[in-house]
Amino acid sequence: MDKTYYDLLELFSENGCPICSYKKTFEEQSLDGLFYEFVTDPEIRQKLRDQGGFCQDHLRRVFDTRPSILGMSIVYEDLLNTYLKNENHPTLKNCPLCNLWKDKIHHLENILQKHWKDFKNVWGKYTFVCIIHQNELQLTPSISSELREQTLKSLKNIDENLKSFIQKFDYQANKDTISIEESNSWQEVLEFFASQRLRKSHRIHSRK
Ligand SMILES: [Zn+2]
Ligand SMILES: [Zn+2]
Repeated sequence: MDKTYYDLLELFSENGCPICSYKKTFEEQSLDGLFYEFVTDPEIRQKLRDQGGFCQDHLRRVFDTRPSILGMSIVYEDLLNTYLKNENHPTLKNCPLCNLWKDKIHHLENILQKHWKDFKNVWGKYTFVCIIHQNELQLTPSISSELREQTLKSLKNIDENLKSFIQKFDYQANKDTISIEESNSWQEVLEFFASQRLRKSHRIHSRK
């Protein structure tokens, strides 16, 4: 079985949006390879120059992840030079990381579609698919509606924790009794609306 299947299976049993988690790790791991190519292959760097560099979101990811300080400096000196020379400043046409993700998400859709029952079976108490990914994933109507149902169930569980968290937080005396699930709840809700894994990313284990 495909490694991605096992990675996804693990993420579907954990809290938060499995697609957001997968995406975050995928992006972090892809950047190393991309920067290696930018630095060592002038043709690929030329392509990046024509594309106008990374999109806003992914530039932020590049900054946070810092795949290679030298690599970032070389690539962005290149882009800066193009900007300074060009009177009609080029606009961003195509972000390389967005392109990689577009291919990857189709792969994830195929796996979800084929093995949906497995994912439904391991679905965690606080697993949900965020707003953006509910719309982005192209699945059959019946799987889409099951996925939405499962998400609603988890969101209700999270809401219970969140209500209890607010109550305990309000009363100093109760603060010590706040559980991990309760203190996770507000972060999970933010992630649902942000459609982004905001907490530390899950590790995608390498399997053979
Ligand atoms: Zn998501
Ligand atoms: Zn992008």
